[in-house]
Amino acid sequence: MTADLFPSYRGRMEYFCLGCGKRFPTDELYYTCPDCGGVFLLDNLNFDELKKTSGEQWRAIFDQRAASKKTALRGIFRFYELMAPVLEEEDIVYLGEGNTPLVASSPALNAATGLTTAYKNDGQNPSASFKDRGMACGFSYLRSLIRRHGWDQILTVCASTGDTSAAAALYASYAGGAIKSVVILPHGKVTPAQLAQPLGSGAVVLEVPGVFDDCMKVVEHLADNYRVALLNSKNAWRILGQESYAFECAQWFDWDMKDKCIFVPIGNAGNITAIMAGFLKLYDLGVITELPRIFGVQSHHADPVYRYYAVDDPKEREYHPMKVSASVAQAAMIGNPVSFPRVKYFAEKFEAVGGKRAFQVIQVTEQQIMDSMIQANRNGHIACTQGGESFAGAKRALELGLVSKDELCVLDSTAHQLKFVDFQNMYFDNSFPPEFGVKPDMALANKPELVISLEEKETLSEADFTRKTADKVVAKLGLEKK
Ligand SMILES: *Cc1c(COP(=O)(O)O)cnc(C)c1O
Ligand SMILES: [Zn+2]
Repeated sequence: MTADLFPSYRGRMEYFCLGCGKRFPTDELYYTCPDCGGVFLLDNLNFDELKKTSGEQWRAIFDQRAASKKTALRGIFRFYELMAPVLEEEDIVYLGEGNTPLVASSPALNAATGLTTAYKNDGQNPSASFKDRGMACGFSYLRSLIRRHGWDQILTVCASTGDTSAAAALYASYAGGAIKSVVILPHGKVTPAQLAQPLGSGAVVLEVPGVFDDCMKVVEHLADNYRVALLNSKNAWRILGQESYAFECAQWFDWDMKDKCIFVPIGNAGNITAIMAGFLKLYDLGVITELPRIFGVQSHHADPVYRYYAVDDPKEREYHPMKVSASVAQAAMIGNPVSFPRVKYFAEKFEAVGGKRAFQVIQVTEQQIMDSMIQANRNGHIACTQGGESFAGAKRALELGLVSKDELCVLDSTAHQLKFVDFQNMYFDNSFPPEFGVKPDMALANKPELVISLEEKETLSEADFTRKTADKVVAKLGLEKK
């Protein structure tokens, strides 16, 4: 197998319902199970054929493909056989997603925490969040459906005010043709910044009075009755694309996951599902011989998954949706995660291989999330608030004796720092509304200072202005003459 060829292997993929166990063909566009409304996973019935190739051979194939000049294999489809091996080369949409860097923390930061950490910067995806991984897979599948059915029109719809709509609108605007993107938002409940990405991508932005849940109901009604592709995270193709995070982590460490702990913020729980599913696939094929440990992280203001797993005896555990309160980890502020059945399914499999310590959920406070984000970024990282949550989770795990500094904690920064800059501003201005319960460390507050006033400037000649301004900078910084 050479890297300049598109793979010839094809899978047979089926939707598999976690609610009722029924299976459905993938030449139809399903969002949830038409029989019971349950969430789907995608199952490749030809997966065992892949076992005829040894783990060592797979490692060589994936490593070779990392140097591929073939556009379709440059991103998440480098792992084609593990992803959606029903697509043709022409179906695959590549906008530069995946291959995000893993950046080791500086010695100073590790010394400060007593941990060994590294960030995987999923904010370095094209729309600046990991959602692009799932959209790349979802839109590639859509293009294959359009090609095979000869559809001349399909609407992609999502209810979201954040990263999902940004990613969906971006991929739709690139794919174009029969695909038209609609984003449904709660009227007056989104900031101009949250609107900017889908508007810039040219999506139809529709507003509905009410909250996110009202939009979601409208969108699900559309998906039940019309030919629209719903792109919220119940969509199983999105989960499949997000498995690439696990494949990339493993490849980064030369396929050695011993003593690695992966920290992932949990919102709707799609990402953590995908990461567990991805590592299990690699393990099943012998590409890795040891699973990493997975730590989900939730804020105490939105922690239904933490509460479920906080009960030690699996038989005693009960799942309860909860009412959330304000969270700086806004993209993870979800009281009833739609992928919870998926988490349970894969957590059991993970524990069956790696034991009880293989999958755990950590709870952190809003204060810890903010302090951690600020600390990470003052040490050369580009973490968003959810990335701060991952870091806070690792520190909490150390406190609880669950990790040691001999292990490497891989922290998922799910979006770019810049997307969540409002929270950094609130920290520096000490302007958090009380419901967040965050008190900034004012020693870290960072503000621009005006060196010279406009009034003073207007009294000075150009040369005097330059000299005087420079003198003020020298005085402020205490510079010595050379
Ligand atoms: C969507 C999102 C999350 C939550 O991911 P889930 O898959 O819903 O658990 C976390 N962080 C960011 C930046 C997101 O956009
Ligand atoms: Zn079902």
